[in-house]
Amino acid sequence: MSGEWQLRRCECGHAFGCNAANSASCTRCGSLRSISISNFEDSRQLSVAVSNANLPREISQEIANRMMLKDNLTVDSSQNSGNFRSKSIQAMHDATDHRGILTISSLDRELTKKGICEPSSEHMIGQAEMEGILLRNDGDSWSWLQQSS
Ligand SMILES: [Zn+2]
Repeated sequence: MSGEWQLRRCECGHAFGCNAANSASCTRCGSLRSISISNFEDSRQLSVAVSNANLPREISQEIANRMMLKDNLTVDSSQNSGNFRSKSIQAMHDATDHRGILTISSLDRELTKKGICEPSSEHMIGQAEMEGILLRNDGDSWSWLQQSS
């Protein structure tokens, strides 16, 4: 004898459980066209089987979403420039002395140390100045307007 409880897969792809004695209509779309996957004696076993049957679909969907997201990030050049931007800011932070003063020569040293050739320290500082991060003190020194740690 087969079990009293049935795990069924609807034509819409949704798996659901039902009592074998009743007509099986999909709990998602209400369709009566479904196939029996397995039978259970116990409704608790069935409910586990139902969630397992529906799980792979959701997981594969989630993975697909993640991969799409990752692809987008790879394609999106702003991601790279974002990384680069934080590297630049990090370099400028590191080149700042204890008085909070940043100079082109100190940034030059820092960039050399980090192996960054482009953009130049002048360009980097100029960019930060334009964005309102750095404020020029005199010809060759800048201080931070906003301390982003
Ligand atoms: Zn359905």
